[in-house]
Amino acid sequence: MTEEKGGTSAFAADVTNSETGSSRSATCSASEARSHRAADRVTEIERTVKTSIPNPYMLAFPASFSTMDSRSSVTKLELKRLLMMGNVKDAFLLTLPDGDVFSESVFEDAIENFVRCFVIFYPRLDLPTLKSVPIAVSGDAVVDLFSCRACGKIVEDPLTLPCPEVSHTVCRGCAAAGSCPVCEHRVPATSLSDRKTTFAIQRLLEALFPEQMAIYGMRKDGNRLLKAGDFAGAVDKYSAALEKDGKDAVLFSNRSHAFLLLKEPTRALADAAQAVSLEPLWAKAYFRKAGALFETGDIVGSLNSVVRVLLIDRDVQAARDLLVKLLFKFLHSSGGGAGAPAVEAVRLSEVTVALDRFGELVEQCRRSLQDLGAIERSVVTKLVVRVDISSEKVEELLTCTLCYRILYQAVTPDCGHSFCKTCLHRVLDFKPRCPECRQDLSSFLATRIFGWSEMIDKCSMLFLPQRYEERIREHAAEIRSLTALSDDEVEVAIFVLTTVWPGIPFFLNVFEPRYRLMIRQATESGSNLFGMCEYTENRLTGGAPFAGVGTMLKITQEVEYSEDGRCFVQTIGQRRFTVLSRGMRDGYHTAKVKFIKDSPIAAERLSAAIALQDEIYSKVHAWVHLRQHDMRTFFEHYGPFPDKADLTVYTVDGPTWIWWTAAVASTLGVQTADTLAETNVETRIRYFDDFVTSEIILHRINALHDFA
Ligand SMILES: [Zn+2]
Ligand SMILES: [Zn+2]
Ligand SMILES: [Zn+2]
Ligand SMILES: [Zn+2]
Repeated sequence: MTEEKGGTSAFAADVTNSETGSSRSATCSASEARSHRAADRVTEIERTVKTSIPNPYMLAFPASFSTMDSRSSVTKLELKRLLMMGNVKDAFLLTLPDGDVFSESVFEDAIENFVRCFVIFYPRLDLPTLKSVPIAVSGDAVVDLFSCRACGKIVEDPLTLPCPEVSHTVCRGCAAAGSCPVCEHRVPATSLSDRKTTFAIQRLLEALFPEQMAIYGMRKDGNRLLKAGDFAGAVDKYSAALEKDGKDAVLFSNRSHAFLLLKEPTRALADAAQAVSLEPLWAKAYFRKAGALFETGDIVGSLNSVVRVLLIDRDVQAARDLLVKLLFKFLHSSGGGAGAPAVEAVRLSEVTVALDRFGELVEQCRRSLQDLGAIERSVVTKLVVRVDISSEKVEELLTCTLCYRILYQAVTPDCGHSFCKTCLHRVLDFKPRCPECRQDLSSFLATRIFGWSEMIDKCSMLFLPQRYEERIREHAAEIRSLTALSDDEVEVAIFVLTTVWPGIPFFLNVFEPRYRLMIRQATESGSNLFGMCEYTENRLTGGAPFAGVGTMLKITQEVEYSEDGRCFVQTIGQRRFTVLSRGMRDGYHTAKVKFIKDSPIAAERLSAAIALQDEIYSKVHAWVHLRQHDMRTFFEHYGPFPDKADLTVYTVDGPTWIWWTAAVASTLGVQTADTLAETNVETRIRYFDDFVTSEIILHRINALHDFA
């Protein structure tokens, strides 16, 4: 009854995934990724990481479980237990209702329930993951650099994923899984549709593996024709590619699919068998074989192959559907033979006999795959591919078009062009367009994900070791010059805005491109520091654009970027400095500065200083208390009024409560900037005596007025 739906339609749905050999299970590549991070070396030749076996006791029953719903939970548990022990026969019998004869629809429901449970509870196999392709360069160094970490093949149509810190490059076909196969960062397939091939890597692959890339090209053409319905044309393309490489399992698998669609099951079967013998642990090869056998009418053979698919990768939905269809035929009409007339009722007796054979078949598949796994594991490595390329060629392909040096920490936006991370930031802050193709990259900027390509940097490291080392040194020197914080004279970036205070929080809403760049460079360098000086054009400093004293600010929270290009920066004041000379860089001001230090309080002055602090602190405290109702804004901006300081302990900037008072006073219009350069703590405390006294008097007068 189900055969009218046609065997081929189920396979046709699978076309989109047939480009690459990517249908290994998700758990497989995830565990591989974990172990790979641990031993992440260029020289690593081969990975044979075991499939992770989930604890079966943690597995839940499938959500839809129609006819079993009425069964007792004891029956369900027994079903689970039997499957986990590998007893498929008794497990299947539990899915049947009581009685000796069933209608076909009841029987089909039972099979569906059984298959759902079978794929979850039947013990997982411990199979090695697919091997990657090691390559040898310049002498003896063997590296595994260009294999896709999802399918193990040389990357086809390289796509650099938007991973957070280091980004990973996989085949476009393998990227569709929803997360990065290396770092497991979530990458929804929809976000990849607009993402172009990483050109730098594609060109490098073409130079390194011209034959392989030509084969990929033909396969792609074949897949395109297949999708368009030109099955014969697809067969021609796959055949041409197979003439170049007769050991490509994916090509055999795809051609098998095309033959099946051409209603040539015998040729489809021959190709599927080739694919299986080349990649004996590849689920899709067995799936093709199952489909071909189904069309030739070999139910047992097809069942054998489809069980293997699900033992390797239980997530292949098309294989589950096919298993339901096959089991129905196998268990129901196995007594009657091929020509027997359709029987409406299903008898328990015929099912029981057939189930014995099915149980044996599953066990046989399991053992066979396990043996194949052991053989695969014993093979140390695949054939090493020798590559031959001049360092000049690599340098040409891996040059940043912004700085004309070799790419360092290359970032690849959606448009597929790669630039050094720092180079790209410098450009994007002024205009959010790709410098090469002019594509609008504002949404890329807003994601704040700028992982740099592991593959590109490792290529430079491998092919151009000296140039790469030089490049690292240059980069380190650039970063050092951007921001530094020591007692010596240093050059710092200057944000020209207002006076800020040591230890006091300061919030910035940045929209000017040059300052956005400054913030970015501060975060990129890891220092998170920049200087801030008050805007004082033609005042005090004789024409200089900013004040001669300032304070360093440290970014304390992740900078937030909005789509319109603004960014929000939460900072806290650090050390004060005196400006020695002024300069410009990347469009913003810089200054050579010397940090200001308080003079230590002399021992004989200490008790007087403490008494002075006590007196003024309590005055300020009283004032804050008096005005607490309208102080809320200050608390929000500058934090709560700080505690008194222990003056017996020397600090370069002295008590924070003085800076807090200075911040509030300056917001109220009092000129307090001079206190920044003051290095005597007592003088600085006294500075606020008059201010706070008059504030308190003013407050009392106002209160009297209110009273009157
Ligand atoms: Zn791949
Ligand atoms: Zn990743
Ligand atoms: Zn560059
Ligand atoms: Zn571009």
